[in-house]
Amino acid sequence: MILLDGKKLRNLMADSLKSAVAEYLQENTAPQPKLAIVQVGDLPVSKAYINQKKLFAERIGAKVLHKIHPDKVSETELIEEIKKLNKNKSVHGIIVQLPIPDELDKQKIIDTIDPIKDVDGLTATNIKRLWTNDERTVLPATALGVISLLQHYDIEIEGKKAVVVGRSTLVGKPIALALLRENATVTICHRLTKNLEEETRRADILVAAAGSEHLITKDHVKAGQVIIDVGINFTKEEHMVGDVDFEAVKDIVAAISPVPGGVGPMTVSSLFHNLVEAWKTQN
Ligand code: ADP
Repeated sequence: MILLDGKKLRNLMADSLKSAVAEYLQENTAPQPKLAIVQVGDLPVSKAYINQKKLFAERIGAKVLHKIHPDKVSETELIEEIKKLNKNKSVHGIIVQLPIPDELDKQKIIDTIDPIKDVDGLTATNIKRLWTNDERTVLPATALGVISLLQHYDIEIEGKKAVVVGRSTLVGKPIALALLRENATVTICHRLTKNLEEETRRADILVAAAGSEHLITKDHVKAGQVIIDVGINFTKEEHMVGDVDFEAVKDIVAAISPVPGGVGPMTVSSLFHNLVEAWKTQN
């Protein structure tokens, strides 16, 4: 079995982004790339993700502008904040750290981000670009992370049967579209899928993105498959586990990404890949 090591690839990406930024700054007069993170409330899990982003930024020579708002912030205030960041020439990428409280209209807030600064690829403009195969598409970080991990390990996507379990706007759907863009034949499964085991066993590449602890067992897999585990779940003992029962399937499949240490780290490096691209476009 090949372990698809997202931490290792994240580190390689950090090195290459660091050189890319340094080289660009030697040849051009430009400010350092800067990512603005808009946070609402103080969820511990958001704090942890933001810290990872700050650490990665430091590694590659990028900056982070962290804007924290109280839970009770109004939609209007958030929209005003984002409009200011759109105009701020020293900011090249803007993300809203999700989740935000349900009372806020998430899509409306995200759609305020200038598409040129939309490094999470979640504005309506970018979603349309992904749908229509526009070359300006910014792949959302998780989807880019999945594709990069497959490509790094020379796993062919074209013509393969890819099965994605999960159809969320943020994770499952963009991953499915990204695989389709790479010419896989894609099936999307969800809560109401009948015979999930039958569907998942048909896959060459199986992507688990359901947010459900150990949903994928040895009965869902077969020899030769490549498994990408996008799930991040916390057990009662606060251990981080994926959607796949790693121990149960690891001796059956051909390759698998672990949790932690698989797609998670790739999501961070992919976000900064998008930031560096946006930065170059804006200079
Ligand atoms: P995330 O943003 O992590 O993808 P969501 O809760 O928004 O999480 O979405 C979970 C997705 O996973 C949904 O599309 C849902 O249909 C799918 N899902 C959840 N549980 C199962 C299950 N037992 N079988 C198949 N699909 C599931």
